Amino acid sequence: MTSTAATISGAVRRATDAAPIFAVEQLPPAQHFIGGQFRPGAGSETQPLENPATGEIICEVAQGVAEDADAAIAAAVAAKEAWGRTLPKQRSEILLAIADRLAENAGELARLEALNTGKPMMVAEDDINGSIDTFRFMAGAARSTTSIAAGEYAEDHLSVILREPLGVIGVVTPWNYPLLMAAWKIAPILAAGNTIVLKPSEQTPLTTLKFAELTADLLPAGVFNVVTGLGPVIGQRLAEHPQVDMIALTGSVNSGRAVARAAAETVKRVHLELGGKAPLVIFDDADLSAAAESLRAAGYWNSGQECGAGTRVLVHESVAEQFTQLLVEQVGSLVVGEPTAGADVEMGPMISKAHYERVLAHLDRAQADGAKAALGGGALEGPGYFIAPTVLVDVPAGAACAQEEIFGPVVTVETFSTEDEALTRANEVPYGLAASVWTRDAQRSHDVASRLDAGTVWVNSHLVLANEMPWAGFKGSGYGRDLSAYALDDYSRTKHVMHNKAR
Ligand code: NAD
Repeated sequence: MTSTAATISGAVRRATDAAPIFAVEQLPPAQHFIGGQFRPGAGSETQPLENPATGEIICEVAQGVAEDADAAIAAAVAAKEAWGRTLPKQRSEILLAIADRLAENAGELARLEALNTGKPMMVAEDDINGSIDTFRFMAGAARSTTSIAAGEYAEDHLSVILREPLGVIGVVTPWNYPLLMAAWKIAPILAAGNTIVLKPSEQTPLTTLKFAELTADLLPAGVFNVVTGLGPVIGQRLAEHPQVDMIALTGSVNSGRAVARAAAETVKRVHLELGGKAPLVIFDDADLSAAAESLRAAGYWNSGQECGAGTRVLVHESVAEQFTQLLVEQVGSLVVGEPTAGADVEMGPMISKAHYERVLAHLDRAQADGAKAALGGGALEGPGYFIAPTVLVDVPAGAACAQEEIFGPVVTVETFSTEDEALTRANEVPYGLAASVWTRDAQRSHDVASRLDAGTVWVNSHLVLANEMPWAGFKGSGYGRDLSAYALDDYSRTKHVMHNKAR
């Protein structure tokens, strides 16, 4: 595919250091991790992994078949009773030991993540720190969950609520934050007393396999299993298997639909964290410089390959020109480069050639639809799959670039004249993951936040997360809750036991 937009040369900072980012001999075994051990799969096919910053092949990873998923499910089934009976304190101590092990190996994990995804070291390090904190938080939450108090709610009958693990949970993760998205599932699922079979993205399995290697001595065999391979093969098998009690997927809407469909046959629970197209509603009284500075990070962090990214500016028409100028200044100063090109590199490549071409096709279509690039608008010279940080203006109403998830470094700017118009248009996309409102008017901020159809709404901020708070979408963004004590609820079942105490 050839994009119609011009390729910009010389804008990617290249590594000058010849030393590799990660020593090949430290790569984890490129096999499945089942029953506490790495092992080859039943099939013979492998899949090459590519470094998207350079286009070089890193290694080949086993491409699983349904029998591999079945073997991992059998291991998880065998382990579930003993693990489910452990005390919260015991599970909590194991989660803390996992957090410590990750912390001891944080540098290596960050470099491995950067190798597999091309992301800058500052992003990879943030991912690993976030993963560690997720395990620490869930270790505490496991011991401090609450529910309705035991008591007499019907005459002579004492009611007690038991919170139980579900059993075996199938997990499917995406490529944008490979270890972090895995940690968001693994930590609460184990904390709640379940066992796991996890299928990482076929493009980015390395840190998940490293996690298995690093924690193999901390978890009983079979409690945590990894099967590498394709979604429609391994993910599908996990979703349809009768001995999997729940399927949890973070990924695109199409993959979410596929697992929900497959899960329906066995009526298993489904937990979905899907795409997003987060609007920023910027009123005329907002601190425009703060909004532009915030969007520099919120729109372009992880190269915009971020489900909660601020992608869709709706700015009051009276301040649109001023805001756009501030935004272009901010975004124009982003440092784009290879992960080893310096600690100040802020933006890396797209994850793959296919995704790079998809984002470029979006840019071509946006420009054909009448939008103009106030900044960027095309590819950056290779090698690697780099795209220029882009700001699109003059976006016609309903244009695909402002409605569909592009998942690249692209922000659209549209204008509005009334608050009602801003809200209608903010809510008109099929997604409902995140949104932000920018105003100095406190009453307006509360009211608008309550009328935005999104699972997370920031006021005068965007893309700040906390392990204590839930992350979950509405509408097409799915219905699972990651992070916080709510995730523990999602991965547990509540049983009511009623004692007749009449005498
Ligand atoms: P993707 O849907 O292509 O893949 C995600 C995972 O699903 C992969 O492991 C893939 O192999 C698997 N998969 C694909 N088809 C499947 C099928 N038919 N059955 C079972 N599994 C299947 O998504 P991606 O490209 O890896 O990630 C980007 C998407 O993830 C974006 O839409 C993004 O918004 C979303 N995302 C959402 C969140 C969130 O918290 N809501 C977080 C990160 C990413």
